[in-house]
Amino acid sequence: MGLTDIQTRIATAATACGRDPGDVTLIAVSKKQPDARVAAVLDEGHRSFGENRVQEADGKWPGFRDTYGACDLHLIGPLQTNKTRAAMELFDAIHVLDRPKLATTIARLAQEMGKCPDLFVQVNTGEEDQKAGVMPADADAFVTTCRDLDLPIRGLMCIPPVDEEPALHFALLAKIAERNGLTGLSMGMSGDFETAVRLGATHVRVGSAIFGERP
Ligand SMILES: *Cc1c(COP(=O)(O)O)cnc(C)c1O
Repeated sequence: MGLTDIQTRIATAATACGRDPGDVTLIAVSKKQPDARVAAVLDEGHRSFGENRVQEADGKWPGFRDTYGACDLHLIGPLQTNKTRAAMELFDAIHVLDRPKLATTIARLAQEMGKCPDLFVQVNTGEEDQKAGVMPADADAFVTTCRDLDLPIRGLMCIPPVDEEPALHFALLAKIAERNGLTGLSMGMSGDFETAVRLGATHVRVGSAIFGERP
């Protein structure tokens, strides 16, 4: 457990399947973690973090950035349309683009602000009612819609159902990405990031395995 251990395990998994470890970004998911634990990981030199709530992130990251300098922040939790501007000001990447209304709002604000975070389309690979994301069957059309809006779509993101083999979902996400000419794959968490790396993840989102269980 801990940052160094996770970095080593990512590098080992990547090398074992002929990938360059440098092609996998480790997003340290700091949501709900005590500031002291986040500061410890910043002290180790890590600079890519994930948060799932705009408000929580807004409360702590301006301060960390003041102290530690530039940090890459990734939004990995649901985004309400009325928080889009705040999210675009704070985050370098948004992994939860999942509906036309959000896409048009981001496009309009990107024009106005003259910048836009990297975007990942979230796909509900398990077709779960309670989960966000576009359905796999709608993903191609949604990616096209986003491209028509000139949005910088970097890749796809998924959160597999808890009780299913994640590899099937990672493989499905990779397939949808490939046929849409997308290279970014945001997939893999504490329990399955090595599997995700094997199936092509470019961004793994690891929280508890780095910081310990969330209080
Ligand atoms: C919380 C969260 C993670 C990290 O989960 P861990 O099991 O703590 O690694 C990854 N992705 C998303 C979308 C999350 O909400």
